[in-house]
Amino acid sequence: TIELEKAFASAMKSIARRADLKTHIEQTPALYSLLNRAAARYVTGESRSDGLAAQQRLMDKGYAVSLEYIGENTTNLQDCEDAQAELSHLISDLSTRNKAARVSFDLSHIGLLLDHELTYRHLIALAEQAKHANIELFISMEESAKTDDILAIYKRAARNYSHIGITLQAQLNRTEQDLIDLSSGTSRIRLVKGAYQEPESISIARSSILNERYLRLIEQAVEQGHLLSIATHDESIIDEVVRRGWIQSSAVEFEMLYGIRPDLSCKLNAAGHPVRIYLTYGQEWYLYLCHRIAEYPPNLFQAVLDMSAA
Ligand code: FAD
Repeated sequence: TIELEKAFASAMKSIARRADLKTHIEQTPALYSLLNRAAARYVTGESRSDGLAAQQRLMDKGYAVSLEYIGENTTNLQDCEDAQAELSHLISDLSTRNKAARVSFDLSHIGLLLDHELTYRHLIALAEQAKHANIELFISMEESAKTDDILAIYKRAARNYSHIGITLQAQLNRTEQDLIDLSSGTSRIRLVKGAYQEPESISIARSSILNERYLRLIEQAVEQGHLLSIATHDESIIDEVVRRGWIQSSAVEFEMLYGIRPDLSCKLNAAGHPVRIYLTYGQEWYLYLCHRIAEYPPNLFQAVLDMSAA
């Protein structure tokens, strides 16, 4: 079953990256509108104002929010500059609100595939702007081939900007050591299982062994005194975190993706636990939809149901 799931996930991710398919969808209004309907479960809309409106709705209900402008693996300079400009506009719009969302992004959206110095400069410009607006920035973690570069850029920036956080993936065997290496500062950490198909030599697949490792990493991060987002929809892990009393610390919160297990985030919020919802917006919603289906195949059926709903 694991092999089948891997094959399905990798097929979905190849579909997500095919520029010709994307163009075909954009040029076929009926198809575009169908897929857009399926994506609406996970993506707030195409524009910044869609993300900001959803942020307000959720904050009114007592949730904290992260906002991502969708995009990754940008390979031309103009697209990187455009992504940087959009994130800067987002920070600027957020700065006018009393309680702002956290801003999340992939370093490969703002230049990682082109030039590390450019990426660093982009990150610092955003960090400087966000610092004055009292807004937190968070860097997502991408596939393992990029982990060293992402961590190096993060660590360099975090020396001067403590309001930048980093995402770590429990599925990677290296993560325990990466966490130890971050112990000298009080970094902000988001712990996820990991969304990428990685070789068995460097990772472990979804399993009870991975869940045990996830819990050990939470314990390690709490002991190291980090601000920690426990970013999972796995109810068995969430129950265990509550049972062990970790969530009572003001430094720890749950974080879940918009549209995934809203029943669970609602239950945790109603019980008074700190819950952050991760919102996305942007024209690349098709990519994001494919990722959500890849990581959880039953979402394909959900997408068909959403498309057929009037
Ligand atoms: P799983 O074991 O995958 O799922 C547990 C249960 O959750 C499932 O049985 C199901 O009930 C539910 N569930 C999980 N996924 C879905 C879904 N797509 N649709 C419906 N139900 C689902 N990954 C990265 O590699 N890098 C990142 O930077 C990153 N950032 C993230 C930020 C946040 C806030 C979150 C919540 C996740 C992020 N992820 C990231 C994705 C993460 O790595 C996992 O792929 C994703 O969270 C699913 O894993 P899980 O922990 O929920 O556990």
